[in-house]
Amino acid sequence: MFEKDAQGDHLHPDTLAIRAGHQRTHEQEHSEPIFPTSSFVYESAAEAAAKFSGESPGNVYSRFTNPSVQTFEARLAAMEGAEACVATSSGMAAIMSTVLGLLEAGDEIVASRSLFGSTVSLFAKYFGKFGVVTHFVELSDLESWKAAMTSRTKLLFAETPSNPLSEIADIRALADIAHDHGAWLAIDNCFCTPALLRPIEHGADLVIHSATKYLDGQGRAIGGAVAGRADLVREVHGVVRTCGPSMSPFNAWIFTKGLETLGLRMRAHCDNALALAQWLEAHPGVERVHYSGLTSHPQHALAARQQSGFGAVLGVEVKGGREGAWSVIDATQLLSITGNLGDLKTTITHPATTTHGRLSDEQRDTAGITEGLIRIAVGLEHLEDIKRDLSRGLDAL
Ligand SMILES: *Cc1c(COP(=O)(O)O)cnc(C)c1O
Repeated sequence: MFEKDAQGDHLHPDTLAIRAGHQRTHEQEHSEPIFPTSSFVYESAAEAAAKFSGESPGNVYSRFTNPSVQTFEARLAAMEGAEACVATSSGMAAIMSTVLGLLEAGDEIVASRSLFGSTVSLFAKYFGKFGVVTHFVELSDLESWKAAMTSRTKLLFAETPSNPLSEIADIRALADIAHDHGAWLAIDNCFCTPALLRPIEHGADLVIHSATKYLDGQGRAIGGAVAGRADLVREVHGVVRTCGPSMSPFNAWIFTKGLETLGLRMRAHCDNALALAQWLEAHPGVERVHYSGLTSHPQHALAARQQSGFGAVLGVEVKGGREGAWSVIDATQLLSITGNLGDLKTTITHPATTTHGRLSDEQRDTAGITEGLIRIAVGLEHLEDIKRDLSRGLDAL
């Protein structure tokens, strides 16, 4: 849908973000409409029967499909370069529906250790109960991925860059490992979005989104999506329409409008984040900054090759351990002290006692979550105001 213009030339993702997916109705509306309806009506009993059986295409019930949701799905698919996309009620619902749709008891997942906390619980605790076993490995250690593969491995799963230390997954290498074993690779593209990274171009089979983060970008709604190969997305959609974690039409409309400015916002987030990272790296109160945009980052070259920007989440180790970190956080007046990210508003959090607080000391050590580590998800306030807010605590260390 609109991936090529009338001359057959490929359209830029920034253009697709504004144009793809909208099927104009007979009202000739210019902006994308919302269809807040639970069901759809038919001209005749015969038409109803054909729609219900799937013999003729069209909407039946909004748990199955809804035009506002389809606009969002088609737009995101076009931006990711995916054959198909299904929207879900949250990012977690996207991951859950993927595993329910594609795996069965006895199958195995190999996943990065550096995953969103709820994703770790979903795999280890909930899917473990149903006989799907997950092996967790080091994100950037390809040998440990290979060593974890068995004849039962069906799915490889990673986030890149990782949260909060900005480790980078080599997507092409992971895709090769997956495909050599007849498995699929799914990449959670929450941190980069298709504005900076299109995992399918690097060999991934599926891309997972928490639309809650940058796709909306303004902290207004919870949603998710799975994009990728049509045959795989069809199975995931089967789960969504049967089990019910469908996206609401209203939220789909918010995310569709969010996508329109995604490229602009992500470039602005990246510019602010890089400038802030460079400033922090030179600050005497800071021991280390983890950000793949810095040349000091061990995987800077891979990030530069794979992504068109470095994202906006910084891991900042300050002097003075937990006390130092908390004093910097508590001295802020502008930044929001919250675990959320992907917002215009800059957020600041202490991972060791919040997002990673439930890990054991040993697990935190292996994950590199030190007591002095602060995570900053850089927003779009003016850079000088963000710096001044952080200086208050940093200068006192
Ligand atoms: C937030 C997040 C999720 C979960 O998304 P929800 O919309 O909160 O369900 C999954 N992966 C990553 C990387 C996230 O940051």
